[in-house]
Amino acid sequence: MIPDIKIGLCVMCGKCEEVCPTDAIHLSSGFVYIETDFCEECGICAANCPTGAIAIKFPVFERA
Ligand code: SF4
Ligand code: SF4
Repeated sequence: MIPDIKIGLCVMCGKCEEVCPTDAIHLSSGFVYIETDFCEECGICAANCPTGAIAIKFPVFERA
């Protein structure tokens, strides 16, 4: 799933932008943007965020 940014937890360190293998995540004007067309949903940005501001959402399936 595409990463979900909790901007209130972000300290604008730039680590996510630095580690993204597809250059899909960018910091600009106090926000973190993800270019969804380039995101491969690898989770590297979330794993490297020092404040836990990035969460990868997984789909929830309900039992029939
Ligand atoms: S999940 Fe992977 S490809 Fe997508 S923004 Fe994060 S590091 Fe980049
Ligand atoms: S790694 Fe986390 S704290 Fe750093 S800029 Fe990205 S979202 Fe913000």
